[in-house]
Amino acid sequence: MIPDDFTYFAPSSLPEVWNLLRQHEGDAKILAGGQSLIPLMKLRLASPAYLIDLRNVPGLSVLQEQDGSLVIGAMVRESQLEQSPLIQTRYPGIYEASSVVADPLVRNFATVGGNVAHADPANDHPAMLLAMGTHVTAQSPRGTRTMSLDDFLVDTMETALRPDEVLTDIRVPRPLPHTGSAYIKLERKVGDYAIAAVGVMITLDGGVCSRAGIGLTNVGPTAIRARQAEAYLVGKQPDEATVREAARLASAAAEPVTDLHGPADYKRSILRTLTARALRLAVQRAQAGGGQ
Ligand SMILES: Cc1cc2nc3c(=O)[nH]c(=O)nc-3n(C[C@H](O)[C@H](O)[C@H](O)COP(=O)(O)OP(=O)(O)OC[C@H]3O[C@@H](n4cnc5c(N)ncnc54)[C@H](O)[C@@H]3O)c2cc1C
Repeated sequence: MIPDDFTYFAPSSLPEVWNLLRQHEGDAKILAGGQSLIPLMKLRLASPAYLIDLRNVPGLSVLQEQDGSLVIGAMVRESQLEQSPLIQTRYPGIYEASSVVADPLVRNFATVGGNVAHADPANDHPAMLLAMGTHVTAQSPRGTRTMSLDDFLVDTMETALRPDEVLTDIRVPRPLPHTGSAYIKLERKVGDYAIAAVGVMITLDGGVCSRAGIGLTNVGPTAIRARQAEAYLVGKQPDEATVREAARLASAAAEPVTDLHGPADYKRSILRTLTARALRLAVQRAQAGGGQ
């Protein structure tokens, strides 16, 4: 299908973006990699009259550790993330989430900022980033606003971004010593959206779990943080019985619906298995000294 007519802008600074957003409020959409927005426009599920492309705006593709955080600029492409030695070695959960987003062609265009800002519960990054205690930065003519990803993700395809705000970066706390992360996804075939997936981060201190994060993909209106399971893990040795109970609690936090991929009960059961596997993997990585 062919999208409705639109006017395309490629501004070269954030102030220009803000100006365009203000001039065309309600009729304009920001364009990042276009891998979610353009398909929606082709299906005429979205028909913005103005597209404001961020590709020429400088400073949005930073990917580095800085001031105790991993800073991922909103326009960092999936392929850039996937090929980064920093991500591969220190952030295995993020690497794994990125490498199961769609296929290499899509990943050459798709951005991490777009993945998060689109707020599709089926997108892979939000759950992993929730598990890691991520914050996001939004900038507008009124200044810079930082919020937790939990607060940013409001509902299906709805975020806390205000009409004049641009998501500029994503900040993941640098992993403490003995931290491991993992992302495991069940998809019908390679490149598909998740039937269900889970992102996990574990920090060990003297063999005991001192921090835990668990995020769930595509089993609710937004990516879900499995808080009860997280709290259960803290202060315990992550032995097999503990892992299984945490996985049970995580699947109880899910709100899956029955659809073409299967009944809700099936998805809960899958989630329990995926969570247990991701926890075991994250613990192994933490025991191997991950985060150092
Ligand atoms: C065939 C196919 C398969 C896919 N499979 C998967 C998958 O398995 N897992 C997965 O996670 N994703 C998948 N995707 C989605 C893909 O990863 C998307 O590209 C991504 O979710 C959105 O990123 P984008 O850069 O393309 O954003 P765009 O499509 O350009 O934008 C998406 C939305 O976010 C807004 N936006 C983007 N950037 C900003 C910003 N900086 N500030 C404010 N608002 C912004 C836009 O206005 C728009 O509403 C798939 C896409 C395709 C085409």
